[in-house]
Amino acid sequence: MTDYRNFKIDTDKDGIALITWDMPDKSMNVFNEEVLVELDKIVDQLVADDAVKGVVFTSGKSSFSGGADLTMITGMFSTVKAETARNPDTAQQVIFDLVGKMSWLWRKIETCGKPWVSAINGTCMGGAFELSLACHGRVAADAPSVKMALPEVKVGIFPGAGGTQRVPRLTNAQDALQMMTTGQNLDPKRAKAMGLIHEVAEPKKLIPTAKAMIKNGLKPVQPWDEKGFKAPGGPVWSAQGAQLWPAASAILRRETQGNYPAAAAILKCVFEGLQVPFETGLKIEQRYFTHILQTPQARAMIRSLFISLQELNKGARRPEGIKPVKLKKVGVVGAGFMGAGIAYVTAKAGIPVVLIDKDMDAANKGKAHSESIVQKGVQRGKTTKEAGEKLLSLITPSSDYADLSDADLVIEAVFEDREVKKTVTEAIEAHIKPSAIFASNTSTLPITGLAKNSRRPKNFIGIHFFSPVDKMMLTEIILGRKTSDKALAVALDYVAAIKKTPIVVNDTRGFFVNRCVLRYMNESYNMLIEGVPPAMIENSAKMAGMPVGPLSLNDEVAIDLSLKIIRAAIADMGEKAVDPRHLELVERMVETEGRLGRKNGKGFYDYPAKPGKKHLWPELKTLYDQQDASKIDVQELKNRFLATIALEAARTMEEGIVTDPREADIGTILGFGFAPHTGGALSYIDEMGAAEFVAMCKSLQRKYGKQFKAPKLLVEMAEKGETFYGRFGSSESAATRAAA
Ligand code: NAD
Repeated sequence: MTDYRNFKIDTDKDGIALITWDMPDKSMNVFNEEVLVELDKIVDQLVADDAVKGVVFTSGKSSFSGGADLTMITGMFSTVKAETARNPDTAQQVIFDLVGKMSWLWRKIETCGKPWVSAINGTCMGGAFELSLACHGRVAADAPSVKMALPEVKVGIFPGAGGTQRVPRLTNAQDALQMMTTGQNLDPKRAKAMGLIHEVAEPKKLIPTAKAMIKNGLKPVQPWDEKGFKAPGGPVWSAQGAQLWPAASAILRRETQGNYPAAAAILKCVFEGLQVPFETGLKIEQRYFTHILQTPQARAMIRSLFISLQELNKGARRPEGIKPVKLKKVGVVGAGFMGAGIAYVTAKAGIPVVLIDKDMDAANKGKAHSESIVQKGVQRGKTTKEAGEKLLSLITPSSDYADLSDADLVIEAVFEDREVKKTVTEAIEAHIKPSAIFASNTSTLPITGLAKNSRRPKNFIGIHFFSPVDKMMLTEIILGRKTSDKALAVALDYVAAIKKTPIVVNDTRGFFVNRCVLRYMNESYNMLIEGVPPAMIENSAKMAGMPVGPLSLNDEVAIDLSLKIIRAAIADMGEKAVDPRHLELVERMVETEGRLGRKNGKGFYDYPAKPGKKHLWPELKTLYDQQDASKIDVQELKNRFLATIALEAARTMEEGIVTDPREADIGTILGFGFAPHTGGALSYIDEMGAAEFVAMCKSLQRKYGKQFKAPKLLVEMAEKGETFYGRFGSSESAATRAAA
């Protein structure tokens, strides 16, 4: 038998070949060119071998596979670029053939004449799940780690290796659409209920169960290749279909606002594919994939949400030459809203935490937050009782700073008050070891200033979490003027341990994320003041791709906090630092109307008791003379929201607050959901082109004011035809970036 680098084949006495996929130098199996070539050869070899009666395909790693790898995806983008430049007439055919490679190899497996069973032992994503769907039998191990999904839509593409054709031929079209347009994870039970897998087996019995399927006479023919096949959801042109399809397009439109061509392509592939023979369906899918791959959304989303995200998670910004640090103990001081959440995510990562507050009552209350998350998790089957108890045992509430003496990292999350922070910093430093790193979770106070309270400013850093801490994936790491590389390395190792994504920024008022998000809310104040109807403000923001309207977001963060921020800005930088009309609006909301936001059930929205639904405060439109809605240009409102944020991101690049465009993009998407289809605030400018963006901003500036003034950097980039990624891209991933 031939030797393969990535696969092992053992044929048993019954003639069942077990293929074990186990890539030698990777922690997870992924598809790349070499794997596909080997797999193709394996299919030929096993088909030719008369001794082989059937095939079981599994993974030798704890997970099954993550799907296509980076080199394959970026390779596709490189081909698109190169071929389009070389010969635009033939480029589409070359791209079409390239994107069909996987799909037709999977088809070769399902028509090879011998039964194949996929034995899914762990996470099985994208192309790997599509390969499994092409197998005649599918069995998954019954374990919490086993998840199956076709998540491509989350990065701007869609299942292009037969997924859109096989899923709706195995389950009803509605569930198929739901699964693929959201990219949701399925556990084995759900996958079986949907008809996507045949069996769920105890992990130890996975391979025997798969082999038994073959021994019991599994037919090497897929249902859709049998005469008279009918899709479980019925034909498209039927009473059932008439209920589904018009609603499906409307729902997709509501959910995506037309911003995600890949999601729309899924609908088209399923709708068109179900009306034709299976192989024609595969060609339809291939044709849509060829098109989607060349959309700006696919380019930008893959770059940010696939490539950059992975790079940042792997420590792209970690200083070189410092050994990885495994934290043995973390201290959290301030067991309030944020501190309690930080303690939870730390313990969840298996790190012991001491959680300190002024007294034991407050510290215990902080731990109770974790208890409640664990309890809900156990109830919903997301965690086990044992795992929950283990997590809780790692959190030690305390009111004694001496308990911090052996902590490697201490995170302070006490009141946002310089004096309180000073006292607490001194109290902590009186007990911690000299090598310990001190991090502040401040959301507004510059780190360099806070570090003045420290005897060891080199060890002082900002780790800014977002709320709710257990859900938000981003952390913003802030370097003070004296922060050392060691402190940065420890902070990054901690963030990696708790499985969050870090961005590293230099010190400034509001850091990066809050500076950008404030612009979003400020523009909504401007629109209110101009008399744009509030519903139009919210809807246009959502149409631009923002997950939450600015007024709703302001309610979540609290309007009295906005007032505090405005007043602090005036106190620190003078009256000119803020627009007096904004102060007047926010003062009126908070002080005259007593509307603080969601927290007191009254903000820009009203929050009636359940089952009532939140709705815009009716009086809001009486505060300013209303414009005639039909005369307002919605596209311009959308442009204003995205442009004001993107401009602020560009300013932070000019000021050197953010130094790497990947971080600005990821920070804006993970921090507050900046229109993900754009790839983030700077990708938004890059895709539009600096010249066009600057021209748009000039026009907005003339109409709406100086918030749209483009910084010098952008004007220069517009003149030179530069992009952020071209100008500021770091060398280590220049290749992947150029390709994308
Ligand atoms: P909070 O009021 O809920 O909690 C603060 C906690 O600190 C309280 O439990 C209080 O008892 C404790 N505390 C005060 N003085 C103390 C002392 N001397 N010793 C020990 N404990 C003391 O506040 P929060 O919302 O959790 O904010 C904490 C920090 O996190 C602030 O710096 C804030 O700016 C920052 N932050 C808040 C958010 C947010 O959304 N709330 C987001 C990011 C960052």
